[in-house]
Formats: sequence, C-alpha cells, structure tokens
Amino acid sequence: MNENSNKVYDVIIIGAGPSGAVAAALLEKKGYRTIVLENQHFPRFSIGESLLPQCMRFLEEADLLPAVEAAGFQMKNGASFVRGDQYSEFDFRKGFSVGWGTTFQVQRGQFDKILADGAARIGAEVRYGHTVLAMTPDQNSPSVTVKDETGEQYQLEAKFVLDASGFGRVLPRLLDLELPSDLSVRRSVFTHVEDNIDNSEWDREKIRITVHPTEHDIWYWLIPFSNGRSSVGVIATPEYLEKYNCNDEQTLKILLAEEPSLTKLLRNCVYDTDVQALTGYSKDVKQLCGPGYALLGNAGEFLDPVFSSGVTIALKSASLAVETLDKHLQGENVDWQKSYAEPLQMGVDTFRAFVESWYETGFQDIIFSKDREGKVRSMLCSILAGYAWDEANPYTQSSKRRVAALVELCRAD
Ligand code: FAD
Repeated sequence: MNENSNKVYDVIIIGAGPSGAVAAALLEKKGYRTIVLENQHFPRFSIGESLLPQCMRFLEEADLLPAVEAAGFQMKNGASFVRGDQYSEFDFRKGFSVGWGTTFQVQRGQFDKILADGAARIGAEVRYGHTVLAMTPDQNSPSVTVKDETGEQYQLEAKFVLDASGFGRVLPRLLDLELPSDLSVRRSVFTHVEDNIDNSEWDREKIRITVHPTEHDIWYWLIPFSNGRSSVGVIATPEYLEKYNCNDEQTLKILLAEEPSLTKLLRNCVYDTDVQALTGYSKDVKQLCGPGYALLGNAGEFLDPVFSSGVTIALKSASLAVETLDKHLQGENVDWQKSYAEPLQMGVDTFRAFVESWYETGFQDIIFSKDREGKVRSMLCSILAGYAWDEANPYTQSSKRRVAALVELCRAD
C-alpha cells in the first residue's frame, strides 16, 4: 500500500481554495479528520479579489479572520459605479441586513495561502501537488484516486468527499454533472498594474465598476490593493473582443482608452504584469450533491464576476455543507437536497436575478436612478454586500420579479 493511503479520514476535500480551506477549518473545529488534496503549490495566482462583507462571518466562524485581518489587505466598504457622466456608490455600512459592513480587497495568492495555512494549523492535513484523477461515489465510503508529483497514484477512502476544485470542476467532469450555464458566454481580460492614482477624490476603499461608454453590456473593474497596485479587467462577449483583432494586452489597453474616466484615473499606471484572459467561466451543474459527495463554490455553479459574489458563494457553500455534513456524520438521515442544495441555491438565484438585469441594463438604470434613496436602496445595498440569503430582505424573495418592477419604476421617472 502507498504510504499516502495509510491514514483514515472522515472527509476528503478536493482543492484548497477559499471553499476548501474554510470547509476544512470548520470540519476540524468539529473534530473531524480532514484531508485537503490540492494540485498546485501555494501561493498561486487566482482571479477573484474583491470580497463582500458577508464573507467575514464565515471567516470568523472558521477562526480564520484574525490571520486575514493581520495581513494588511486593502479595506473595502462599498462599490462605486460609473456610466458616462453618471456616478453612484453604495456604502455597505449603510445596508439593510445585520452583519459586517466592511471587508477586504485581496491578492488571492496571499489570501488563499493564509486560509489554507490556517486550516492546516487547526488540524487539517493539506497535500500540495496532489491531483485528484477519479472518484467512486458511495453513500458510506466514497473513494478517490490521487496522483502525487512523482507520478505515483494512490487511493483514499473516507466517509464523504467535498469537491472544492473551482474551475477544475473535478466531480462535474468525472460524474457527468456538467450543465451549460444559462448566462451568455463572456470573456474577461485582466492584469495587475502599479496604479499611481493621484486623484485625491479616488476612494481606494471601494471597487469601481465602469460601464463602457457605448456598449452597456461591457464593463470594467478596478480593484485597488493596499500596496499602490490595482487589479484591472474588462468583460465583454468573445465576438465583440475578436473585432479588435489583437492580443489580450492590446485589447485591454484599447478598451480602457475608450472609457474617459478610467483613462484619466489610470493615466500614470505602469503595466508590469502579464495580461491574462478567461472565456466561458459561467458554469452550472445538474446536481450539487449525490451519494457520498457534495459540490462547493465554483465546482458547483459560477454566475458572473460583476457583483463580486464568487468567494461569498464559495464560503456560504462551505458553511452550509459542513453544517449538513456534521449531522450526516453523526448518523442523522440527512436530505442533502433540502439541507444544502436548496438553501444555497436561494442566494445564488438572488444574485442571478441581479446579474441578468445588469446585462439587460435594467439594474444599471436602478443603480444610476437619482430618486431611489432610502429603504429600497439599503436593501439593494445589502445584496451587493453579499447578504443574498437574508430572508428579511424582500429582494431575496422573488428577486427577478421585484427587480423587474423596480426597473419599470426607475425608467418611468
Ligand atoms: P478556487 O478558488 O478556484 O479553488 C479551487 C482549487 O482547487 C484550486 O486551488 C485548484 O488548484 C484546485 N484543484 C483544481 N482541480 C484539482 C484537482 N484535480 N485535484 C486537486 N486540486 C484541484 N469572486 C469574488 O468574490 N470577487 C471578485 O472580485 C471576483 N472576480 C472574478 C473575476 C473573474 C474574471 C472570474 C472568472 C471570477 C471572479 N470571481 C470573483 C470568482 C472567484 O474567483 C471564485 O468564485 C472563487 O475563487 C471560488 O472559490 P473556490 O474555492 O470554489 O475555487
């Protein structure tokens, strides 16, 4: 027997990104023997740098918040939006839902390593350079086939498997769970820059989302970090980007130059990092759970980056899955669909309604509407802060219908 197979675990987690690390920490805190199999070595680059305040609760719950707070990441208290000469901002501290009103904008290499190291400190075994190749689902003892860096393969068995493999989408691929997303295929082109922004009105504590001057389904992000650098990127359909007929770096620079406010803000910025691109990142699955397994974070569904909801959904899924798994491992007859998939889906569907309306430009009209202050705006603010599961907020219920009604009102003004 391979020495890697010798030990006995309660739970195998595939992937040490935010959902895997938080799930591992939460399970260890409850006394379960947990192993995390991660095919890369940390720190490694990942996109997805602007967190939402709702994340803080899950980091706190997993005892990982003090290490994140100590790292000196950029404080974030809201989001600002620009479309032509229209400007709007949301201060998350003024939201409707009870909870954190601030969070961080993080370099994910460093952030993900802090979480994975934290999970290991609490007791999880984390094996880097170990890739999960296959999985045999089983109600009581699912198993995985793993390859280490020497190329040697081994088997591991546990009482449950959590797939936190992100865009690796290990179980969706292996178990034929992939489902095309109903969101349009889009491409993102992005990099990190030394921003040299000297505008005294520039608020580093907010993510800036800017709409393209003429194509309102194209938008840019500007996410400032605490070290004078920023993440900058643009999202558009692949067909639109192809028209430029140039490489990713040129495409990004041309698109940035088309938007006057970003041109002004970034006039002294230094491009010193490779430009990267990702196409067709919206993903869905047929089911989020099955015999002896559940899917977390991006291994389940990924919507769209526009409202920075990815890490929040990933951490919510980890928290919900561990709550359900705890009962399962204690011998309760748990209905995973009712206890995990449906509650998770509720918040994902709230974000989906906002994302769809954003690209149809209705939600943009709400954001830039001058007269929509007060309670409704604070409810929308809370969704943008990640509180998409707060049932006290009417916009988490029948979200699509309510957002559509609000769009009508704003457009009639
Ligand atoms: P990941 O962070 O992807 O971690 C998965 C881990 O699994 C990886 O470390 C990987 O190496 C490992 N793995 C994969 N395959 C295997 C295997 N076979 N064996 C072992 N290990 C494996 N989210 C935000 O919250 N804010 C943002 O501002 C934001 N911006 C985004 C911008 C873009 C363009 C895109 C595409 C996404 C953005 N996101 C954002 C989404 C965010 O990146 C993800 O939602 C988040 O990283 C999901 O976390 P996770 O733990 O599910 O997966």
